[in-house]
Amino acid sequence: MACPTATNLFDAYANAVMELFDATERLANLVGQHGPFEEARDRTEHARGKCVAARLALEQHWVQHGCRAFSASVDQTSFSGHEGQIGAEAVVGHVTPGGLGLKFSAMGDEDGKRLKALITRLRK
Ligand SMILES: [Zn+2]
Repeated sequence: MACPTATNLFDAYANAVMELFDATERLANLVGQHGPFEEARDRTEHARGKCVAARLALEQHWVQHGCRAFSASVDQTSFSGHEGQIGAEAVVGHVTPGGLGLKFSAMGDEDGKRLKALITRLRK
């Protein structure tokens, strides 16, 4: 059974991560341009803060609630990515300072393809 609270918290975290990737990408494109760069840098810092806060909230919930299953859904349509909505049922394998180990327990073919495309793009 997926925990609705964890699902919501994960949603917020995933969206904060996507916002951070987006902001970082924009920042990289503005190197050398003073005004716009400063603006983008502030935006990136803000996104990073949101990301850390969302991650903490999720970890806190896991400690308090002890649940491990949730539905993961990343809607990137508002970001610069082209993969679109990715939905999956996921179970948390482990939580380390470096990241989350997720095991997807249910994912459609199309979602799998979009996730693969997203990971390939983010690793570049
Ligand atoms: Zn929970």
